[in-house]
Amino acid sequence: MDIIKEILGKVCSSIQENFPLSAITGFRTGGPARFFVSPSDIEEIKEIIAICNRYKIPLIIVGKGTNILISDNGFDGIVLCTKNFNKMVIEGTDIYCQSGALLSTLLKISIEKELKGIEFLSGIPGTTGGAIISNAGLKEEWISEKVVRVDVISLSNGQEKSLKRKDINFGYRTSGLENYFISGILFHLTNGVKEEIKKAIAEYMKKRIATQPLGYPSAGSIFKNPPGLFAGMLIEKCGLKGYSIGGACISEKHANFVINKGRGTSEDIYKLILIVKEQVKKMYNIELETEIKIIGSFPVSPSSLPSPPRGEGKIQRRGKREGAEDEKCE
Ligand SMILES: Cc1cc2nc3c(=O)[nH]c(=O)nc-3n(C[C@H](O)[C@H](O)[C@H](O)COP(=O)(O)OP(=O)(O)OC[C@H]3O[C@@H](n4cnc5c(N)ncnc54)[C@H](O)[C@@H]3O)c2cc1C
Repeated sequence: MDIIKEILGKVCSSIQENFPLSAITGFRTGGPARFFVSPSDIEEIKEIIAICNRYKIPLIIVGKGTNILISDNGFDGIVLCTKNFNKMVIEGTDIYCQSGALLSTLLKISIEKELKGIEFLSGIPGTTGGAIISNAGLKEEWISEKVVRVDVISLSNGQEKSLKRKDINFGYRTSGLENYFISGILFHLTNGVKEEIKKAIAEYMKKRIATQPLGYPSAGSIFKNPPGLFAGMLIEKCGLKGYSIGGACISEKHANFVINKGRGTSEDIYKLILIVKEQVKKMYNIELETEIKIIGSFPVSPSSLPSPPRGEGKIQRRGKREGAEDEKCE
């Protein structure tokens, strides 16, 4: 790896070795990255991707780390973080963002410029690039609806492309762009009124505060909602609200959130994920799919998992349930 450090050193403005990824993840967990780079320049990014391909070095892209779980063993390769790749250009009702621009900054600009249409992104803590990868949003409002174009670099051959929205396979928490580095996104908004935009943003935020455990490190919703159902409700009906392993806990406030109560490890969180999946499968014969991206190795054997409490509740399909406070936001 010393040779890699030397090669990287020729193209990267700064390289950190054995960088603790817990410093940049929403969960505040994760072991060290062998090399951590946070370039601000597209040419530098292209060079890093080329080096990884030429020397077969594992590469992962990270934005704000709010939708990932990284192994406590860390990542033996290069972690490219987009935090410094964050310029924005505004032209009329269009905003072009480099992928490391935060959704919160985009919202701030939309208020300043009186542009509406993305208020529903209020309170989603990631970058625009991370949001495009998972087509972030709420139940019925997705970021893809505001996208005109996404500029990408292929992670396998470094080829650059501009993709129109119609050419991207956006779906529920998916974009099909996992094999690309997202370099920039062109959003199209519409003219609005500052006070109304601010009010809508505040309303969305108020709902989040009421329903989500925002005081603790987390990665938002762990599982995708199965068709017609809410993952949070299934987890709750399994009697798992408040269940914890080590320092990780299934939130009492929103059962689809796992929170880190202080000293939780990625392994604790991973074990909870396995337990939830197993219990939901046992009780409802439903395979929950994770919304968060799980990175690295997790040497956990199912037999080492503790037995959780058993709940037994009937479930109702979406739309017929009363008092569904939990899942209003996602
Ligand atoms: C409290 C809380 C609330 C949340 N609420 C919501 C919500 O309502 N709706 C919702 O959809 N999500 C929600 N999330 C999840 C998360 O914030 C979003 O998915 C966010 O858009 C992820 O962005 P990020 O920069 O943190 O991505 P990261 O976690 O850094 O990365 C996520 C994935 O995207 C990839 N990636 C990131 N940037 C790039 C890039 N430039 N090019 C290629 N790949 C890239 C990473 O490799 C990884 O696979 C919430 C999270 C938290 C902690």
